[in-house]
Amino acid sequence: MQTVQTDLIILGGGIAGLWLLNRVRQAGYDALLLECDNLGGGQSIRSQGIIHGGTKYALNGVLTQASNTIANMPQRWRDCLNGSGELDLTATKVLSDAHYMWSKGSLGSKMTTFFASKALKGRVDSIAEQDRPRVFKNKGFRGSLYKLNELVLDTPSLIHTLAKPHQDRIFLNSKDNTRINTDNQGQIQSIELTDRKISIQAQRYILTAGEGTQALLDRWKINEPQMQRRPLHMVVVRHGADLPTFAHCISTGSKPVVTITTHPAGENEQAWYLGGDLAETGVNRSPEQQIAEAKKTLQQLLPWIELPNARWASFRIERAEPKQSSLTRPDSAFAQAVHNGIIAWPTKLALSPDLADQILQQLKQQAVVPKYIADLQRLTDLPHPDIAQPVWESLF
Ligand code: FAD
Repeated sequence: MQTVQTDLIILGGGIAGLWLLNRVRQAGYDALLLECDNLGGGQSIRSQGIIHGGTKYALNGVLTQASNTIANMPQRWRDCLNGSGELDLTATKVLSDAHYMWSKGSLGSKMTTFFASKALKGRVDSIAEQDRPRVFKNKGFRGSLYKLNELVLDTPSLIHTLAKPHQDRIFLNSKDNTRINTDNQGQIQSIELTDRKISIQAQRYILTAGEGTQALLDRWKINEPQMQRRPLHMVVVRHGADLPTFAHCISTGSKPVVTITTHPAGENEQAWYLGGDLAETGVNRSPEQQIAEAKKTLQQLLPWIELPNARWASFRIERAEPKQSSLTRPDSAFAQAVHNGIIAWPTKLALSPDLADQILQQLKQQAVVPKYIADLQRLTDLPHPDIAQPVWESLF
């Protein structure tokens, strides 16, 4: 058995693990990341890529804790994207510099006043008719339209940008061949790559495995924190129109009826990716029923739109988050220290910077300082994971 010593092991290479790897390396820690499949291949590559500023959580007219925690995320990401932030994301593709919010008919006066209020200043702007996105430049559109201070990123290029500088520290190892060795107090002694006869020892073991974290906690025999899964039934329509659309449709409820993002697909196509309430309430529908519902929703909300050569698909996915009472949405990123581990869920892609802050803070509080330099020569036989394919490619 070869032993490798490092400061931190990160288990799971979605947005949380990759963002963290960049931040801890920057802070001087030696760190290795183990991924059991493709990078970003859980929720991250399937996310809509919206860097929320919290407006979606204010649709009941109240600024909740969730909407306040997330309010400064767009600016942090924008700084990274223009090269002046904590990480260099200048190579990441921005799909849209703004996300929009529209209603089919006019909004009630209560919401109109709220959106114009001081509390939402800088987060929500009204928009002149000539500046509307193409999809809303139609005589048939009679609703309200707002521009949000949010942006939408191309998730494959984001994953690629974060993985590239640290490729030599990101390894592929199957779950079945990864053993967590603990002592009788529950402290992790090492992570053993059983088929490679390699044992990796670290000062701290950080679980950023998304939905896979539950299985890791079970193997580690840790009962708290608990994880919750919130299921979604997403719809993708790939088509030949050039109609970039990034918007939540709002109605009287506290959640968007549907959220549309648009992604380049294949050579000359686009994919509209549909989430929001359609995906939440669609979990009990069959794929055929869900696609029929999506078609009906678009026909009702955007009746003037035609999508040539449209091909439809749906798929199910679970959001993995820290457990809340009554399956509600968590407010902020979550990181909890347990023994010599840290268990982490960002709860939103947009909150990955906040998650990394929390983890760095915990390392500081626990007086974990950079100490080791891993002997990467001992790991040269380990393969490196690929980047996952987005659903608008893999489903068609
Ligand atoms: P994941 O992306 O799931 O990554 C976990 C990784 O761990 C995976 O690569 C997996 O293979 C790996 N893994 C699992 N088990 C192990 C193991 N035992 N060992 C090693 N590796 C392991 N958030 C936003 O801010 N904006 C959005 O627009 C948005 N849209 C979303 C749309 C959908 C459909 C969904 C499902 C979520 C969306 N989210 C969005 C939420 C966001 O995607 C997630 O909060 C975020 O991607 C979670 O990242 P993660 O790294 O924790 O998990």
